[in-house]
Amino acid sequence: MAIDRIVNTTLSEDAEQEEVLLEVTLRPRDFASYIGQGRLKQNLNLAIEAAKKRGEPLDHVLLYGPPGLGKTTMASVIAHEMGSQIRVTSGPAIERAGDLASLLTNLSDGDILFIDEIHRLNRNVEEVLYSAMEDFKLDIMLGKGPSARSLRLDVPKFTLIGATTRTGNLAAPLRDRFGHIHRLEFYTPDEIRQIIERAAGILNVAIRRDAALELAHRARLTPRIANRLLKRVRDYADVNGDGIIDTTIGGRALIMLEVDELGLDPADRMLLTAIIDSYKGGPVGVETLAALTAEERSTIEDFIEPYLMQIGLLERTPRGRRVTYKAYRHLGRTPPADSDT
Ligand code: ADP
Repeated sequence: MAIDRIVNTTLSEDAEQEEVLLEVTLRPRDFASYIGQGRLKQNLNLAIEAAKKRGEPLDHVLLYGPPGLGKTTMASVIAHEMGSQIRVTSGPAIERAGDLASLLTNLSDGDILFIDEIHRLNRNVEEVLYSAMEDFKLDIMLGKGPSARSLRLDVPKFTLIGATTRTGNLAAPLRDRFGHIHRLEFYTPDEIRQIIERAAGILNVAIRRDAALELAHRARLTPRIANRLLKRVRDYADVNGDGIIDTTIGGRALIMLEVDELGLDPADRMLLTAIIDSYKGGPVGVETLAALTAEERSTIEDFIEPYLMQIGLLERTPRGRRVTYKAYRHLGRTPPADSDT
């Protein structure tokens, strides 16, 4: 995979640092500046108001959906709205039960613990988490063999916010312990336009409304990609124009970045073309697709596929993935005569 694919979520180290800075700068702090996801905001707002009224911590929240849609951002917004401190970590970072114990015992009542990629928690850690989530107790084993004994510790009344790209990968006992389970949806192009204009305001970039909308259509309905595209297009406008992004400059920049009018990049087009050329349009299994395109299976499942399905270029059937009629048309190819999609 090309490491710096503009639409990708895995970046080289330098690019990642730059990205972290960008994300921190642009991250909305409260419900008012968090654009879109209306239903999610409404539900959470109600839960937050109720918890505050009762003087209790918010019930544990699980947020799921493709990368870059705003799960981490929403966790910090919840903390802000609750007036709570937030501690951010990720599944793979908590290696042992002891790591979790020290994280939890260092929290205060009402604090929020955010665990990104919660589906990657290791099993031992996950089991210790159950009782912490359920009754704010930690059961820790001390020692090994016949002399081992278990110790029960109280932990502060915290709220766990977990984020995952797929709930299917989460063990049922863990999923069941979340009071709120919410899926983040792809944004509409108009919401993405608002996100781009908000980011442009913060970064002091001049962008015309029609150019912002054009960019929005190519940002895979995903805020992270919208912000990244804006930055790349701004660089282009600074070098090749007078710094103002209009549709002409924007269009030229996007051609250079090889992002087409649906937001597809060469890797997406290669994936679709491979299914057409090697498998007559499918169906084809995801493992075969991974081998065919040299992408990781998880990259295809978490990142590439959800958007292609959302915009109706790819569909999932019991026998594998299949390209649609719309995909043939988008790639300028003739669909087979018996195509019914
Ligand atoms: P995830 O955790 O789902 O991968 P993030 O929360 O890290 O996604 O979001 C990526 C970036 O996109 C954030 O830094 C923020 O700038 C922007 N973003 C996400 N959601 C929104 C939103 N609803 N409104 C404005 N900007 C957003």
